[in-house]
Amino acid sequence: MNNGVVMPMLGLGVFQAPPEATAAAVQDALRVGYRLVDTAAAYANEREVGEALRRSGLARDDLFIETKVWISDYGYDATLHAFDKSAGKLGVDRLDLLLLHQPLTSRFDLTVGAYKALEKLLADGKVRAIGVSNFMPQVLRRLLTETSVVPAVNQIEVHPYFQQNELQRLHVELGIVTQAWSPMGGITSYYRGERSTFDDPTLQRIAREHGKSAAQVMLRWHLQHGRAVIPKSTKPERIVENLEVFDFELSPGQLAQIDALDTGVRSGPEPDSVTLENYGRQIPDA
Ligand code: NDP
Repeated sequence: MNNGVVMPMLGLGVFQAPPEATAAAVQDALRVGYRLVDTAAAYANEREVGEALRRSGLARDDLFIETKVWISDYGYDATLHAFDKSAGKLGVDRLDLLLLHQPLTSRFDLTVGAYKALEKLLADGKVRAIGVSNFMPQVLRRLLTETSVVPAVNQIEVHPYFQQNELQRLHVELGIVTQAWSPMGGITSYYRGERSTFDDPTLQRIAREHGKSAAQVMLRWHLQHGRAVIPKSTKPERIVENLEVFDFELSPGQLAQIDALDTGVRSGPEPDSVTLENYGRQIPDA
């Protein structure tokens, strides 16, 4: 990342992993070789992630723990306290990467205050890197004019059906890592029940050509484009499958065929539509 900290390109996501399934999924993932876990205060499973980290027996320095501050905890003091809540639930005194989960464009003052708190946590050594999520080009540029540390990461929706190339180009220009959420387009099947990326004929054909699955092809496509990914599964066999993406290579032609699947239509919520009124919620103390 832009501050020299090394982040694994592939990690486990745990959005919608119910608390009772989270610890087992994270433990399975760590056992088979994952070292990064992406959670969030809003996922209500940080405690279970922490339990799995401890049970794994792995050294803290071998793990990369990433979480996100929810919008209800934006503002300088509230965000400093949000770090204590998340670190307390995870059972760690330092985080590897802390993100602002969403821009709160209707209250940008709170967003800036929250980011300044992340800068303070970084300066104090409580987090090794800081970043944002779901920040669109204009909002990202605005943040840069009001704060001093360029985010290390912007975690955004990227999958074959929604690629955000303009934003990705801005990331390259600014030295920000693109970390793809819903990297396999999970959101195309579970959110509004549209056309699912897993059933896409082009992806399935390319998968057959390599003896791999559509999921693996999508993950490989990201990696070859230099994007970090955080595929989510709570199923042990899929957790393994999603890591087995380092033993084949997509041709330039295959990459171009996947690039051509972009519809330009996001599946997740419009970042600007996220407000305290419709998405605010109390994040409990540790
Ligand atoms: P993914 O693209 O990771 O897809 C996950 C979905 O696909 C789940 O329903 C999972 O079900 C299923 N699945 C997993 N592996 C396979 C496979 N090999 N074959 C077929 N189906 C599979 O989407 P997510 O939206 O979960 O995104 C991943 C992570 O990104 C999240 O967990 C979270 O950490 C992060 N995220 C961040 C957001 C943000 O706003 N910053 C928003 C959304 C996600 P099952 O578990 O049953 O296997």
